[in-house]
Amino acid sequence: MEAPLSPDNAAEPPEASRAGLRRRPLGLRLVWATMAFCAIFIVLSVVVFTGLAWTQGRERMQAELVQIEQASAATLSKAIWELDREALQAHVQSAIRVPSVGHVAVKVALANQAPEVIEQMRDGWSAPGWAPSRTLELAYEPFPGGRQVVGELQLVGDERVLWQRLREALSSIVLVQLLQSVLLAGLIMAIFNRMVTVHVQRVALHLARVRPGNLHGLLQLQRVEQSQDELSDLVEGVNQLQYSLSAYLEQQQRYEQELSAHRDHLAQLVQERTSELETANQRLQDLARTDALTGLSNRRHFDEVQGIEMRRTRRDKVPLALLICDVDFFKAYNDHLGHAAGDECLRMVSHALRTGLIRAGDMVARIGGEEFAVLLPGAGLVGASKVAERLREAVQASAIAHPHSAVSAVVTVSIGLAVTHPEEPLEFDALYRLADEALYRAKQAGRNRVADPVAQPQGAST
Ligand code: GH3
Ligand code: MG
Ligand code: MG
Repeated sequence: MEAPLSPDNAAEPPEASRAGLRRRPLGLRLVWATMAFCAIFIVLSVVVFTGLAWTQGRERMQAELVQIEQASAATLSKAIWELDREALQAHVQSAIRVPSVGHVAVKVALANQAPEVIEQMRDGWSAPGWAPSRTLELAYEPFPGGRQVVGELQLVGDERVLWQRLREALSSIVLVQLLQSVLLAGLIMAIFNRMVTVHVQRVALHLARVRPGNLHGLLQLQRVEQSQDELSDLVEGVNQLQYSLSAYLEQQQRYEQELSAHRDHLAQLVQERTSELETANQRLQDLARTDALTGLSNRRHFDEVQGIEMRRTRRDKVPLALLICDVDFFKAYNDHLGHAAGDECLRMVSHALRTGLIRAGDMVARIGGEEFAVLLPGAGLVGASKVAERLREAVQASAIAHPHSAVSAVVTVSIGLAVTHPEEPLEFDALYRLADEALYRAKQAGRNRVADPVAQPQGAST
């Protein structure tokens, strides 16, 4: 049996039907073809049969006339010999009563006179036309060997009888042929319907309902015939096609699953690589902005940030302070304790500076060997001085022993300070120069101290 198909799988009408083409069932076309053939056959057979029937009709009429001749020749001859006109009339009358006879004439030969004619014709009879006619010499033998010609019998057939007989014969043959044709056409249609149309319709319905999801529902026709024929070939072909399609779809599905797994794997790899790259990139950017020795921002990052902060200062009309810090007598530190100790010292100073800054926006960067810059956005002179002092103290409080410093037993820094105000904004170079000059003054004043551009440096007691 065919697999059940759901109603939502109902077939869409094919394109040709939708285009409005007239539906012409095959069986009906077969019937029309049969009828047309039969019509031609009837016409041809009627033509042939008409010829035959006409010939037969004439032969039959001829035979009837011969029969009349044979039946009446002797009596007519005798009646003429005896000049029995009544008997002659009676014979002619009885001959004309035979249906196929149209005209009867008996010529009586008279000595030295024109022959006397006794004749009868059927009502409406006209000249012989297509009907046969016969003429028989009448002779009488009054004594053996004394045969004498006494007259002549003329018989002419009635053409109307010929036509009547032909019509009867033709009407029956046409009727039979017509009946035969109609029956034949009906029979062909019934057989064709039963043997072909029903099954072809079923195949069409099955094919219209086939979907990728129900390819396993095979086509099976309900037929009595067990032998192999064109229809069973068709069923096998359809089922074979479904098998192939189903196998192909399953394979496609497998490929798609494998492909999607590969894609997922690839996407995961790409994601992993991307995030690794992003991390590396971020690390690279951080490295590019970071001083390798101290972990503080480097000169490059400092320049970026100072650009941003200078713009913000002008935009928001707030002050910005810059501190430049320099380790005191660092060359001596390096020279006596070694470069590695110098590096370590720089790391500790950096730590002190970084932890000495509290505000979120403040930043410290290493801008040279033992030189550090601090940006204090929003800080005025007073605030910046406090921060600078706190930083200086923080470095000192780190208590990094410096046996060769002229100002302290521990490592100290000198700090130069400059501030740009919204009322008198400075370019960064000018700000830097002012801070650098202040640093110089702090060094000149004895180191380990903070100096601003205006005030005299305030020393720290050591
Ligand atoms: P002042 O008190 O006037 O600042 O004197 P100073 O000795 O600190 O200044 P100077 O400019 O003469 O010496 C700075 C020294 O810093 C020179 C160099 O040997 C040392 N230095 C610069 N960069 C580094 C560094 O990355 N590591 C180490 N260990 N030493 C450095
Ligand atoms: Mg220096
Ligand atoms: Mg120095």
